[in-house]
Amino acid sequence: MKEVYISIGGNLGDKRENLRNALIKIHENKNIILTKISSFYETDPWGKTDQQPFLNAAAKLLTNLSPEDLLKTLQNIEKEMGRVRKEHWGERIIDIDIVHYEGVHIRSESLTIPHPYFSERKFVLAPLVEIAPKLVINGVTLKEYLDNCKDNLLVKKVSGSPKDFNMTIIAAVDKSRGIGCQNKLLYKIKSDMIFFRENTLNGVIIVGKNTFKDIGFLNKRRIIVLSKSENFVGENLHSARSVLELFNLLDKFNEKIFVAGGEAIYNLLMPYARAALITHIFDAKKADKFFPPLYDFSLKEMRFSEENKIKFAFSRYAKKENHPFD
Ligand code: ATP
Ligand code: CA
Ligand code: CA
Repeated sequence: MKEVYISIGGNLGDKRENLRNALIKIHENKNIILTKISSFYETDPWGKTDQQPFLNAAAKLLTNLSPEDLLKTLQNIEKEMGRVRKEHWGERIIDIDIVHYEGVHIRSESLTIPHPYFSERKFVLAPLVEIAPKLVINGVTLKEYLDNCKDNLLVKKVSGSPKDFNMTIIAAVDKSRGIGCQNKLLYKIKSDMIFFRENTLNGVIIVGKNTFKDIGFLNKRRIIVLSKSENFVGENLHSARSVLELFNLLDKFNEKIFVAGGEAIYNLLMPYARAALITHIFDAKKADKFFPPLYDFSLKEMRFSEENKIKFAFSRYAKKENHPFD
């Protein structure tokens, strides 16, 4: 898997929804894992200035696609979202550019990496510096490029990135990364259940339908079931049919947000989480559901415990922010 940094932006339609949708579609591709996203930035148009302001963001991804295949994949997402190519640097629903691809320098007819204009564009550099200030391109860090950039067009951080939801992943994971078997949690450790209840109290809990059927209603918290096929409604119970719909729903709540599984839900929402509360269980059982790797997270705290001869540790991880200037 190679590390790639991309820049995305658009200035037509519902810009915030379009940026969110582009991120979701990129991560949904089976050959791409989104590991980090920036805030959203409102920016003045560059190159052709008589048009609407843009909304821009940056993201880091891991991929096994070659640079050419990644470009095709990203262009297909642009097309799927309804982009029509009119004039160069003109208005568009969505534009996804590859800025950096680990270890690659190319200049061909269809692809130039690093992207030819990245160092001249504050709307590319500001979001990138938020997620990778120390990334070196041609011997210079992104932070240095930004400090020396002559572009004076407005670039202003605004709310709306899924990062701003400040989601926390919460899971109990065994030595083999197992989390469940036959739609049941692998372990029912009493102090872990208390840990879950205490942490999620008064919050919003996002789960898939099978996890919801296993854990059921919990008082003093809101539950959102993320499911394509089933609708759940009730007091403090909501449904979202897609990640985009989920984000629209989360815009309305101010409570702390937790992602509580199962496997598919962890996979879908991992890129947007800023923290993870993982109960590491030092034991293994037969499992058919597994926890995904925590890319770009760092361990902040571990508290060891034991119950009925099973050892475990309550652990807290935070997304590596790498941004000392906020
Ligand atoms: P700019 O490249 O100056 O940001 P643009 O994004 O408006 O302009 P597009 O019309 O989106 O330009 O793309 C024109 C062509 O640029 C694409 O068809 C693609 O083949 C080519 N291209 C070259 N290098 C890259 C890159 N690193 N990322 C994305 N597209 C690239
Ligand atoms: Ca572009
Ligand atoms: Ca482009």
